[in-house]
Order: sequence, then C-alpha cells, then structure tokens
Amino acid sequence: MKLIIFGPPGSGKGTYSMRLRERYGLEKISTGDIFRDEIKRGTILGKKIENYLKEGKLVPDDVVIEVVRRKLEGLENFILDGFPRTVEQAKVLDSITKIDAIIKINAHKEILIKKISARRICSNPKCDGNYNVADIKKTIEGIEYILPPLLPKNDMKCDKCGSPLIQRDDDKPEVIEERLKVYEQQSKPVIEYYTKKGTIPFIEVWMNRPPEEVVENIVKSIEKLKSCSSNRNQSI
Ligand code: ADP
Ligand code: ZN
Repeated sequence: MKLIIFGPPGSGKGTYSMRLRERYGLEKISTGDIFRDEIKRGTILGKKIENYLKEGKLVPDDVVIEVVRRKLEGLENFILDGFPRTVEQAKVLDSITKIDAIIKINAHKEILIKKISARRICSNPKCDGNYNVADIKKTIEGIEYILPPLLPKNDMKCDKCGSPLIQRDDDKPEVIEERLKVYEQQSKPVIEYYTKKGTIPFIEVWMNRPPEEVVENIVKSIEKLKSCSSNRNQSI
C-alpha cells in the first residue's frame, strides 16, 4: 500500500503516520525527519538545508526530490509524511510511482498555532520523545476540538530517557507563522492538483480529537477503500 499523509504544520501527521506504520507495516518516509537527522549529523546535505528549516522555508525541490527518489526505490509499502509539498514535487512523484490514497488532515489555523507552540520534544538527540502542553476545548465553525495535553509524568522530563524537554527550533512563533504561510501558498495547491487529476482517492479527517481516535477514523476509511478495490480485483 502506498499512502501520502498531507496536512498543515502541526496537524499531527508525524504521530498519525507512526501509528499507521505500525498498523500496516509501512515504511514511514518523513522528509522533515530525514532533514533534521542530516542536520544533527552535520552532513553535507545537512549543512546545505539547515537555514531553510531554521527559517521555516521549503528546501528546494531538486534537493527534496533527489532524497525521496532514492528512498522510494523498490518500496511497495510506504507512507509519505511531508512530501509532496509543492506541485512540482507531486508531478515528479507521479512519474516515479502510483499512490493508492491521500490522507488529508484538516485543522483551523488558530488550533494549529496553539498546538505547535505547545509542542515539546526530548533534548536527547537519540530519543524521539514528543509531548504537548496545550489543553484545547473549543468549537470553531461547527468543528468541536477536544485535544487534551500529552504531558510527561515528571516535571518537563522525558518519560523515555529522563532528559529535559525543549522546543523545536522551528516551533517558535515567527517561524510558525512562516511555515503556515508557506503551506497556504505552496502546499495547498498540491491538493488542487490531485483533485483536478481525480485518480487518487482522498481520505479526509479533522484533527479535532486525540490521535487514537483520528487514526481509528483513518483506518476505517483505508479498510473501506481496500474492500472496494478487492471487489474490483485490485490490491492496495
Ligand atoms: P511541519 O509539517 O510541522 O512543518 P516537517 O517536519 O514536515 O514539519 O518539515 C520541517 C521542515 O522541513 C519544513 O519547514 C521544510 O523546511 C522542510 N521540508 C520537509 N519536507 C519538505 C518538502 N517536501 N519540501 C520542501 N521542504 C521540506
Ligand atoms: Zn527522551
């Protein structure tokens, strides 16, 4: 199965795709994670892209496409998190492989800003501990958000390794604004591109409940798609 998970910064793509990876045994390809790892390791690629991430700007298409092309070689089961983010990237992806479904996450900007500002990660570079201190109960345009915080057991120390929690560099207010602006300008058109193309089914969900519930909704939709396609003698 070949999936794309698509949504604005802070919509929980990383968390949902991690759970879908476990559920379906998919390879998770997150361009954001790949780039952060390259930067941490101080590689040539890392040095080249560092400033884009710091400023919340997109890494140039040719660099991203090269990285993803290499990762996708020979893969049959994967979920793409954070790619494609521009129409150019989407077009190249079409020429490389055939995607089975696009999971689209919706959320209001106000909620995204609250959620991103409240995100805390483990300061230990070897640990992937991830927390959120925001407690959100709010209804916007008929969408009821109930998003409890995800707190560590001990005062701002990671549950997994005990290291102090910190904020991701690009989760600071000025950078959040820039990332949301970039999403509006460059990534939203990707959805229009796929809508016009009309060949890949969409699974659309709101990020208005804790991850378990959102993922359950996604799984239900995937199962529905699978049973439809097996009726047509196709497998996904
Ligand atoms: P978020 O979705 O929360 O903004 P990601 O971890 O997906 O975070 O991405 C972090 C940063 O990595 C982006 O702001 C951008 O600089 C870079 N990046 C990730 N994926 C891409 C991509 N497909 N094209 C260009 N830049 C990317
Ligand atoms: Zn940790």
